[in-house]
Amino acid sequence: MAVINCPNCKKKISDKAKICNHCQLDLSDLDADKIDNLNRVSLINKTQRLMNYSFFAMILFCGGFLLMFWDNVAPGTWQHTGAMIVTVIGFIMYIVIRTMLLFNKRKTGL
Ligand SMILES: [Zn+2]
Repeated sequence: MAVINCPNCKKKISDKAKICNHCQLDLSDLDADKIDNLNRVSLINKTQRLMNYSFFAMILFCGGFLLMFWDNVAPGTWQHTGAMIVTVIGFIMYIVIRTMLLFNKRKTGL
């Protein structure tokens, strides 16, 4: 008996299992086409999720940036430091997510 990853939810299941005990996917009538399709769907979902995160990171970055310069916040105050930290976190998040998206795109060949 070996442990494999469920093609739908990617959780670990036994290769002898007929139904995934995490997502109830019927594993008995899976063929290569269906597995391929499931993989593509999960990759698209992942891409969609990453897009949402990158949008959130962008908001963080812009929000922090605006706060730093438009709210008459003097350098050295905790507001300024906070805004700067938010800006940097947003920027790093955005770069990391964009890189992940790039790798995803290569996998799907889109
Ligand atoms: Zn599953």
